[in-house]
Amino acid sequence: MSHWYQQSPDEVARKLSSDLENGLSTEQVESLQAKHGPNELIEAAGRGPWKIVWEQISGPMVILLIIAAAVSVLLHEYQDAIVILLIVVLNAVLGFIQDYRAEQAMAALKQMTVPHVRVRRSGRVQEISALELVPGDLVLLEAGNVVPADGRLIEAQSLRAQEAALTGESEPVEKSDSAISEDDLAIGDRRNLGFMGTQITYGRGSLMITETGMNTELGNIADMLQTVEAEETPLQRRLGELGKGLAIAAIGIVAVVVVLGLLDQQDWKTMLLTGMAMAVAAVPEGLPAVATVALALGARKMLRRHALIRKLPAVETLGSVTVICSDKTGTLTENRMTVTAIEAAGDRITIDNRDVNLTGRVETNPEISLILGVATLCNDASLHTEKSEADDDEPQSVGDPTETALVFAATQAGLDKNALEERLPRQGEIPFESDRKRMATVHAVDASDTDSEETSAFVKELRSAMSGDSQHVIFVKGAVDSLLDVSSRVWNNGEIETLDESWRSRIDGANADLASNGMRVLGMAFRPLKSDESADSPSADWESDLIFVGLTAIVDPARPEVRDAVHRCKTAGIRPVMITGDHPLTARHIAKELGISDNDRVVTGSEMAKMPENELDAVVQDVSVFARVAPEHKLRIVQSLQKQGEVVAMTGDGVNDAPALKRAEIGVAMGITGTDVSKEASEMVLTDDNFATIVGAVEEGRIVYDNIRKFIMYTMTSNSGEIWVMLIPAILAVIGWGVVGDIPLPLLPLQILWINLVTDGLPGLALAVEPAERETMNRPPYPPNENFFGRGMASHILWVGLLMGAVSLGTGIVYWLADGPPDPSDGAANRHWRTIVFTVLTFSQMGHVLAVRSHKESLFQQGLFSNKLMLAAVSLTFALQLGVIYVPFLQNVFRTTALNLQDLLICLAISTLVFWAVEVQKWWIRKNSPVPQ
Ligand code: ATP
Repeated sequence: MSHWYQQSPDEVARKLSSDLENGLSTEQVESLQAKHGPNELIEAAGRGPWKIVWEQISGPMVILLIIAAAVSVLLHEYQDAIVILLIVVLNAVLGFIQDYRAEQAMAALKQMTVPHVRVRRSGRVQEISALELVPGDLVLLEAGNVVPADGRLIEAQSLRAQEAALTGESEPVEKSDSAISEDDLAIGDRRNLGFMGTQITYGRGSLMITETGMNTELGNIADMLQTVEAEETPLQRRLGELGKGLAIAAIGIVAVVVVLGLLDQQDWKTMLLTGMAMAVAAVPEGLPAVATVALALGARKMLRRHALIRKLPAVETLGSVTVICSDKTGTLTENRMTVTAIEAAGDRITIDNRDVNLTGRVETNPEISLILGVATLCNDASLHTEKSEADDDEPQSVGDPTETALVFAATQAGLDKNALEERLPRQGEIPFESDRKRMATVHAVDASDTDSEETSAFVKELRSAMSGDSQHVIFVKGAVDSLLDVSSRVWNNGEIETLDESWRSRIDGANADLASNGMRVLGMAFRPLKSDESADSPSADWESDLIFVGLTAIVDPARPEVRDAVHRCKTAGIRPVMITGDHPLTARHIAKELGISDNDRVVTGSEMAKMPENELDAVVQDVSVFARVAPEHKLRIVQSLQKQGEVVAMTGDGVNDAPALKRAEIGVAMGITGTDVSKEASEMVLTDDNFATIVGAVEEGRIVYDNIRKFIMYTMTSNSGEIWVMLIPAILAVIGWGVVGDIPLPLLPLQILWINLVTDGLPGLALAVEPAERETMNRPPYPPNENFFGRGMASHILWVGLLMGAVSLGTGIVYWLADGPPDPSDGAANRHWRTIVFTVLTFSQMGHVLAVRSHKESLFQQGLFSNKLMLAAVSLTFALQLGVIYVPFLQNVFRTTALNLQDLLICLAISTLVFWAVEVQKWWIRKNSPVPQ
């Protein structure tokens, strides 16, 4: 059997029952989809439900609890054993729900990153999800696409692909559409095949799909891909390490309590269980899990704000971003382009209305028609008038907005692109590249197509410019400076003149004049091809000795919301930087309008190219506008900024932007205009291509990080409070401090477990959805690897924990003394004062969680209702605690007793002390650093 690469396109299409012109029909697609299934690589499933359950029940904490339950059974404390197991189950269920939701959120995000592809089906070009492809589909490829499945190239125009995913070779290889007769070719030599996962770096073409999903070459090696572990974020890793360190410290403290208790002649069985309960209480086992939930929730909120996170670590890094480097077109501006001026040989016509008919003006000025003709033919966009649902005839555009604007202007002047293309069919092309800043197309000019009445001004003008035997013409459009580099002549009122200095300065002047008003200026040039020049195989000589015709100015308004976003960046200590391929004057105008630049300095790519590294380092510190920049300059800017300790977010849309996107801490790709390659290289994709979205994502990143810190602060302070309650009496007993030295254990093991696993957990989770604080975007970014315990965290955990412990224990001791010595025959001895300790501690923690909702603002400024989940969690915990005190069955289990109203009110009042203390501290912080308004 011959291979696909040995067969001609016709044979391939026949074998697949497809059609080279029209692709598959809808019915064929349906049956093929049923037969082949979705075009996807079956990855080793993420963490399925069972894996999550296993993780929940195999953690060290659960094992410890199970041992505690077993010990209880041995000691015939069956009720305790059952309660411990119930707590294990409850805790596992809560953990499972959290983790499962986080996993689902991640799976949904992953699903959204499936690329879209353009296929021709039933003769029409449609955009579909790559998952829906079937063998026989005709896929249209262009530079920037990732090949969605394996197939045979039917057309290849200067097509190059980077196939490193399969061959390891990072240099792009030339692709072709002609059959190869050799046998047994290695993958890298099958030049007329396209392979899933490889990247088109140049040119365009079409591919008839032959294999999809796991049948592709990439599918064959997919096993290798499955071993890639889900990436842990730096924060998760650090929290994991922190947890381990704290666990060791906690076990040390527990050992102290147990040894001291035994020295104090306490019952060894109780001490054993107490030790275990304390170990469970002291180890902050939930840290990494909560970080995951907070990150996943953050990613979901970012998506709602149009930022799709591709890699979870980005959520946390975003909050630390110090510089945002952004493209101009489409990100800072609307990418809604309209041609507003056309200039030929010093004559300028301005177009102030999209509906105006230019035909009249073109008749009297044939050069304008030549400019528009070149603009519309040397152009990959198309306009078609389709009756839309709204029943208006508004033309629908397909393609790059700059190009559609030109096609539209040509249409206004009566030049129909489709009709012209029939008359002057395209024979060859050099695609647009940001590096060259221009594109070229070669068209056949039929000599027999003599003047007739309906011949447009454009064709007449063109014919008058064609020399003798020339059969082809090359049209070039691009940035004016880049066109002047390759032009030597100029078209002036039907005459060809030498492009001398005076012409150059006239053209440069017109260019600068239009650009300084914020317009994007494109020049047009042409020349007849000589008869010995090839018209279909591109050559560098094509773009030489050109005849410059004139220029068009296009307006692209700045996005209104970006001004505000730029301002927000600045108050948040983030520097916005514009990096654009456009003209320096255009760039400066827009940068000023948006408030990006405080000075007028603009550095161009060619200036950068001449700068040694140290000079560039100095430049990037205070220049915020870079123009006429090629993708490789972007990489240099990122590197230079990083060298100076900046955390960089960088936007990009083209294939060549990939290295800069990869290098930046946060690579940001454009969801609408971006290429698949740029998306693959990025951490985040903007679904609306909007700069303001990046700033929104930074804000969400900061919220996530702040909330994780608040959670750590809350749980560790709670843990420290519980430890103090147990540790202080043990120490007092050993030092034999008067009557207090005789106090029994203030909390029983089950009470400790209850506080730690039930009452602590819910409000802690509610911290993960805490909304933004006023300060969030009014402070400079924190460094990405800052010490968790910095900025007052360590002292807070110690002093608030100590206060919490002292308040609960102190109240308990007062009651213990007041209750008098217990009657040893009373089974309920010590219950009363222990219930007081238990209750004050739980309520204090509730007060604390409300106080740590903000680092600085008081709860009253924030509003009690601004985190409803928190309110619900605190109320529920409060109700549960009352249940434990007042429901007889639970009293029995937790060895509590009903408090009378007076005792309950005393507990409530005393437990607010922690809340007030933290509020006073926040007041102090506010007083010393007022909240910026
Ligand atoms: P940004 O980098 O801010 O998105 P940009 O879109 O202008 O800016 P490029 O796409 O690299 O950057 O374009 C660089 C220059 O090339 C433009 O300023 C314009 O002069 C020219 N240009 C852009 N698109 C085309 C095109 N389709 N054909 C010919 N020239 C073009």
